[in-house]
Amino acid sequence: MSVLKDKVSQDFIELEEKYGAHNYHPLPVVLARGEGVYVWDVEGNKYYDFLSAYSAVNQGHCHPKIVDAMTNQAKTLTLTSRAFHNDQLGPYEEFATNYFNYDKLLPMNTGAEAVETAVKICRKWAYEKKGISKNDAQIVVCKNNFHGRTTTIISFSNDPVARKNFGPYTSGFLKIAYDNLEALEEVLENNDNIAGFLVEPIQGEAGVYVPSEDYLIKAKALCKKYNVLFIADEVQTGIARTGRLLATCGNCSCPEKNCSGTPEVKADILILGKALSGGAYPVSAVLANDDIMEVIRPGNHGSTFGGNPVAAAVAIAALEVVRDEELAENADQLGKLFRSELQKYVDRSSIVQLVRGKGLLNAIVINDDENSDTAWNICMALKDNGLLAKPTHGNIIRFAPPLVMTKEELLDCVHIIIKTLQDFE
Ligand SMILES: *Cc1c(COP(=O)(O)O)cnc(C)c1O
Repeated sequence: MSVLKDKVSQDFIELEEKYGAHNYHPLPVVLARGEGVYVWDVEGNKYYDFLSAYSAVNQGHCHPKIVDAMTNQAKTLTLTSRAFHNDQLGPYEEFATNYFNYDKLLPMNTGAEAVETAVKICRKWAYEKKGISKNDAQIVVCKNNFHGRTTTIISFSNDPVARKNFGPYTSGFLKIAYDNLEALEEVLENNDNIAGFLVEPIQGEAGVYVPSEDYLIKAKALCKKYNVLFIADEVQTGIARTGRLLATCGNCSCPEKNCSGTPEVKADILILGKALSGGAYPVSAVLANDDIMEVIRPGNHGSTFGGNPVAAAVAIAALEVVRDEELAENADQLGKLFRSELQKYVDRSSIVQLVRGKGLLNAIVINDDENSDTAWNICMALKDNGLLAKPTHGNIIRFAPPLVMTKEELLDCVHIIIKTLQDFE
């Protein structure tokens, strides 16, 4: 039997194929190391990472400040459970609530858990504050949403692959079209049992759908009018990805890039995950003000690992990096450059229909039907040219590099992408 260091990519792929559940369809590349905007495969080939682990690695791979915080805390105290206090959680909660301008934070681990937490808080608020009668609360969600993979969350998905044969489904969700204020007002107007509106500020998994300029502000206003909680799932869009600290404030008039939203767009419940740890560790959180978060009492909710000392130390470091390195500003500027450079190509391309996005969350739509394998083949060619990206839905390719990229690197990537696309014209 060969020793580990002699193994090549194909050996690792075969191990996963044989011993792992087949719940993903990865690009055939086996990564062994990462630094900043780069990753290396087991053969030593170097790539630009244009997925950033679905926007978890906004701060770049193995950011030294985040890794230091993690390893120092790992050597000191890793887990106490919430049966006891630890000396990292309180300082983290103070730091993060100041950073995002909320009264309170509830710590969890994964994005899906944070969404579940938000759903539970919203329902409890509905019964105890809004006065909806027992078990009648409804939460409005959007068509083509992606909020995670738990049984309740897939209950309000409309992706057949994510849902089929996982029933019975959790009830209490109403689905409306995304980016449609009339649909929102209609459902709010005609139903007294609506507790919340759960929305992605940009639909990432669906293919980087950016809603109209005034959508979020007006949706928030409607929620306020009907006494319904405006719940923003910023697991993918948050933490500087879209050129602002949060995408919810991307449409408001305030020019401040690190603001967590003026009251006109600020979510009543904010859901964060992914880049909250810079990809070093699973850290998620739900933030809300006291009048909402106070419905949660001891025993109502919890997690063995949620709020553990390593997560707390890592999250503080990850958020400091975002602010100190001005990643929102960088994402904003590089995003504009990326789209304008790509647009020049799209204007004369027959293979790419359009480029869209905000900050460094962008996508191109390939001029082929949803079930074609063109987008996949383009991603394979991009890989061969030193850039890793993945199709989202059939004919859409998302481009989301770490936000620590330089202008020179970005232009190099634009060159790789255009050169690759040209071979498919
Ligand atoms: C990734 C994602 C989630 C789920 O996060 P996990 O950590 O994978 O559970 C939820 N919502 C959005 C918008 C996401 O992009």
